Amino acid sequence: MNILVINCGSSSLKFQLINAETEEVKAKGLCERIGIEGSVISYTPAGGEKEVTQSPMPTHTEAISLVLAALTNEKTGVVKSLSEIGAVGHRIVHGGEKFASSCVITDEVQKTIEECSDLAPLHNPANLIGVNACKELMPGVPMVAVFDTAFHQTMPEKAYIYALPYEYYEKYKIRRYGFHGTSHGYVAGRTAAFLGRDITELKTIVCHLGNGASVSAVNGGKCVDTSMGLTPLEGLYMGTRSGDLDPAILEFIANKEGKSISEITSILNKKSGVLGMSCGLSSDFRDLQEAYEAGNPAAIRAMEAYCYKVAKVIGSYVAALNGVDAITFTAGIGENSGFVREKVCAYLGYLGITLDAAANAKRGDEMEITTPDSKVKVLVIPTNEELAIARDTYALVK
Ligand code: AMP
Repeated sequence: MNILVINCGSSSLKFQLINAETEEVKAKGLCERIGIEGSVISYTPAGGEKEVTQSPMPTHTEAISLVLAALTNEKTGVVKSLSEIGAVGHRIVHGGEKFASSCVITDEVQKTIEECSDLAPLHNPANLIGVNACKELMPGVPMVAVFDTAFHQTMPEKAYIYALPYEYYEKYKIRRYGFHGTSHGYVAGRTAAFLGRDITELKTIVCHLGNGASVSAVNGGKCVDTSMGLTPLEGLYMGTRSGDLDPAILEFIANKEGKSISEITSILNKKSGVLGMSCGLSSDFRDLQEAYEAGNPAAIRAMEAYCYKVAKVIGSYVAALNGVDAITFTAGIGENSGFVREKVCAYLGYLGITLDAAANAKRGDEMEITTPDSKVKVLVIPTNEELAIARDTYALVK
């Protein structure tokens, strides 16, 4: 069965068509600037050339229409007709406390996802636009929701509760939810498989270090803690997000700069993190590493603070798990930056970790980057959220 995986944002839409039995990616692509002038779709069939086409996309329905036309195109398409698409898997950012696993989208499920929009006002409505557009263009094809928050729903109360008046949890469900759950779950599973261990007996710390970044503590395959919170702003320092800070800073900046809370929240989301600490140099770790090596003090400050913070969160999760068997790096920075991995692991010698410098310098597939005598294994596992979404979708509809 072919599964169409859709990750729909407010003005963009990423897609992949995956054969669920062979797990082959038959085609993938991206629609950008939906609802804005200059919309463009890029489409790459397996083994073929990437095509980039400008085409008006006033709404997501036109964008998905173009995706379906590309997939069924006589020359470059990968299926003969839409009947060869068995189901659609949608990435949904926030499932609140309502969804602890993926599920088939019924009217009731859709209503509940809408109710969770309060918790993710930028993401859930955009995700639902994608669901509605697919329903309109592919009537009768089952749709599945795969939530970023679901994997973290196993966290115990002591990990998810904030030290606020309890009524805010009761009234508004303000608590830690965590994100990147599809990635954390997939990578924790691959970590056990790579080590040839039973996941139910393994303590793993997964470091998803991308433009957004989070760490999770996974005990026996279940998440027991994670660094993102009610929103993806908490935790590690990220590309442009501040991560943890003293909440009183908001009022302090508001008074000093005459800014509103929403203006400051926008600064915390878009102008902070390594971008902010490096005086606006870059949010991209390739640029930061180059500048660091050239001795740029702003890049050195941002990189040192970033790696120190990752190591501190890992240390706290070693305590949460009361030990650790494996630490796994994933996502853009985690998979590609041996530089960041080495700096983070330099703080973890007390765990008996010894890095294999030659292995850490490599890039590519799943690999171990510690020496055979290292007490804790450190791995690099490329994440694959689309495949995880396709697997969940297939499991629910086959
Ligand atoms: P993601 O959000 O997982 O796509 O990760 C994107 C981030 O990965 C980029 O902003 C870069 O900072 C980082 N990245 C990608 N490739 C490399 C690389 N070769 N070295 C260092 N960082 C990289």
